[in-house]
Amino acid sequence: MSVADKISGFMEQSSWIRKMFEEGARLKAQLGPENVYDFSLGNPNLEPPEEFHRTLKAAVDDLRPGTHAYMPNAGFADTRAAVAEYLSGLHKVAFGAEHVLMSCGAAGALNCALKAILNPGDEIATFRPFFVEYTFYVDNHGGKIVTAPVLPDFSMDLAALEAQLSPRTAAVLINSPNNPTGKVYIDSDLEALGSLLDRKNAEFGRTIYLIADEPYRKIVYDGVKVPSPFQHYINSLVVTSYSKDLSLPGERIGFLAVHPEADAAKALIGGAVLANRILGFVNAPALMQRVVRHLQGVTVDISVYQAKRDLLCDGLAEAGYDFHKPEGAFYLFPKSPIPNDVEFVAELQKQNILAVPGTGFGGPGYFRLAYCVDDATIQRSMPAFKRAMGAFIRR
Ligand code: PLP
Repeated sequence: MSVADKISGFMEQSSWIRKMFEEGARLKAQLGPENVYDFSLGNPNLEPPEEFHRTLKAAVDDLRPGTHAYMPNAGFADTRAAVAEYLSGLHKVAFGAEHVLMSCGAAGALNCALKAILNPGDEIATFRPFFVEYTFYVDNHGGKIVTAPVLPDFSMDLAALEAQLSPRTAAVLINSPNNPTGKVYIDSDLEALGSLLDRKNAEFGRTIYLIADEPYRKIVYDGVKVPSPFQHYINSLVVTSYSKDLSLPGERIGFLAVHPEADAAKALIGGAVLANRILGFVNAPALMQRVVRHLQGVTVDISVYQAKRDLLCDGLAEAGYDFHKPEGAFYLFPKSPIPNDVEFVAELQKQNILAVPGTGFGGPGYFRLAYCVDDATIQRSMPAFKRAMGAFIRR
């Protein structure tokens, strides 16, 4: 076989969402798309806001020479300055353009950050369940992922995290609002995490960075605020994108920002900029950089996602499902009514509902529903959710 053993193993490991995608395509062709309830993918179903289209048209009409040329690997200086200004207001920390790297989405930013900090054999500690790609990204740069469980309400279990930290830990990676749980970590937990990392740095004689993966920061409900990691720990980096809050995942635009006072901040951002180049991204897409420069703080209408969350939660509660109401992102992570989440997801599939088993996220006993779908899909799926629950209650 010509494919490397490692990638072949990864293809098997990463197959849940792909399997659902393929099964979804088959079912939709067979039954008609309106009869399949596809909650498998976190692909935003809202169109980008009107300001995006207006700004994009203006950017396309800008015929000044050089607008499509190579640029510094960190991105356009004016875009980075606009991001830095926005971040300074948000986090109450004085960012300059030099602390920002424009990237190909949050995924690109995360890969640049990991390449900049990982030595062979180093570890990245994160909470499980987690966004599956983390395992692969960490491996891309010779590291190893270690995980700690969350508490029953999906908040951080800091004692469990502490048990995973060692002199090999290069960074702790957190994701709030969380995929797949929808949890938003509270301020006092971030403060406690900052103190824990300060203590461990002194104990191990190295810097453990905190990487906050925040593509859902602006997608929060009921007035919830996402606390700033920068306020509680100087060795913090944020990786994020406009994929979810402007509905632009196909455009691959995001950024990495490093706390100006982080240890080795200059080398860290320099390393990440070089990583952007040598990983083959080279730079973030030029056109999109020129667009998002003018869209700092602009989002899709978040209340639409909140209404979808409520519709789904009300329906599933009535059908007898057990879950924590998400505070942000657009995922619900209910308990599987039977211990085997893979078997339950197979039952959902028999009812034409596509979900992803929690096992795929390192969270067995649960399943994930991405509710960035039409309201009609949510409404029409409810009898099918009831039937799936009934199939196990009757046994
Ligand atoms: N991090 C998390 C937690 C995600 O859910 C995703 C996408 O679903 C990403 C990172 C990657 O986002 P992007 O499209 O910006 O690369």
